[in-house]
Amino acid sequence: MNEHIGLSLEYKNTLDYAKYLDENDPLHLYREQFYIPLIHGKESIYFTGNSLGLQPKTTQDHILNELEDWATFGVEGHHHARKPWLNYHEQFPELLKDIVGAKENELVVMNQLTVNLHMLMTSFYRPTKQRHKIICEGKAFPSDQYALASQVKLHGCDPTTSLIEISPLPGEHTISDKAIQDAISTHGDELALVLIGAVNYYSGQVFDMKAIVEGAHNVGAHCGFDLAHAAGNIELKLHDWEVDFACWCSYKYLNSGPGAVSGVFIHEKYATDTSVPRFAGWWGHNKETRFKMDKTFDPIATAEGWQLSNAPILSMAAHYAALEIFAAAGMPALLQKSKKLTDYLFFILNEINKNSVEQIIEIITPQENRKHGCQVSMLMLRNGKEIFEELKKRAVIADWREPNVIRIAPVPLYNSFEDVFRFGEIISATLKN
Ligand SMILES: *Cc1c(COP(=O)(O)O)cnc(C)c1O
Repeated sequence: MNEHIGLSLEYKNTLDYAKYLDENDPLHLYREQFYIPLIHGKESIYFTGNSLGLQPKTTQDHILNELEDWATFGVEGHHHARKPWLNYHEQFPELLKDIVGAKENELVVMNQLTVNLHMLMTSFYRPTKQRHKIICEGKAFPSDQYALASQVKLHGCDPTTSLIEISPLPGEHTISDKAIQDAISTHGDELALVLIGAVNYYSGQVFDMKAIVEGAHNVGAHCGFDLAHAAGNIELKLHDWEVDFACWCSYKYLNSGPGAVSGVFIHEKYATDTSVPRFAGWWGHNKETRFKMDKTFDPIATAEGWQLSNAPILSMAAHYAALEIFAAAGMPALLQKSKKLTDYLFFILNEINKNSVEQIIEIITPQENRKHGCQVSMLMLRNGKEIFEELKKRAVIADWREPNVIRIAPVPLYNSFEDVFRFGEIISATLKN
């Protein structure tokens, strides 16, 4: 099959055709399970699910149930709530395992993303004089950059020598697989950790995670991933790929609300090893004896052994509501629709270029299927800001990145082929004027 299906002739740039694709989309009814923001009374074209996913209509009820149980039971809700709070977090591994490709004992939901990056580096970045370097992305998300540099400093190392940033070559927008492997072998026996985002937040590029893990392990380094832009967006097989650890936020593709709780993966070989060093708190302690309040920490022999505090139930109720929808739709169906939506978007953008005298849009996201998720980053070669302003006026919610990039993410759970068609139509109309 043609990898660059976006160039395929079978698609049509018409509203009828987009509607036909929607009617034949097995997931098209899921859109109705979400609140689509209205602009001037009209449904917006919401393309920023990579930044904050939309609210499921069931979320309110799940949160209200917990508020009711709190009102009814007070502290007894820990045992007598409809979903007892004591074990509330234990529902998540089952719901997350197919989303990230993990075993249940490798998963825990706790804290927030940047906090978890630190928690995991505490266990997996233990530099020595010989082995102290971390390989990361050059244009990593700022929070990750700060976290990495501060960890390096905490251990008395110098970020300018210990942090190895890999950037795209001049004139390119993505990082080649080879550049990452070359950096791994160059720094080989000085390398402690490879920690990158599985999907680059700027370009939308998906990295070859399996090869990166293999490369890191071959030189004796740990390998972890920030899955903020990957969880719920691309196919993940964290256990099989032998990823050492990973964490993600659940307010982007996982639709669990602003500042929602984060997810953590720790590979079984470490999760079950209670001798792995970590920061400790009472919620990570052996459940049988937790309330004996013993002095000595006895960690749970799963990823739960990394928990510090008792669970934020209200935030978790929103997470539960969102994951129920993922479970119903199923990751395979979502991934299939995602490919088709982005392929249709590539087709529409290529049509815009074809129909104008000179190229307007350079798609910097790799178009090869396994190298992108649903985010598409468009470098606007002319009229960028003007087009973006017009999109805003016409109720398209997209994201602008300096100097000239529009990022959009048609999300398979609630975006439609019609959204993609109308998006293209607005750009074409702006160019005609
Ligand atoms: C969204 C995002 C964050 C945000 O971090 P929080 O701790 O959730 O505020 C961090 N890193 C990456 C790569 C992100 O995409």
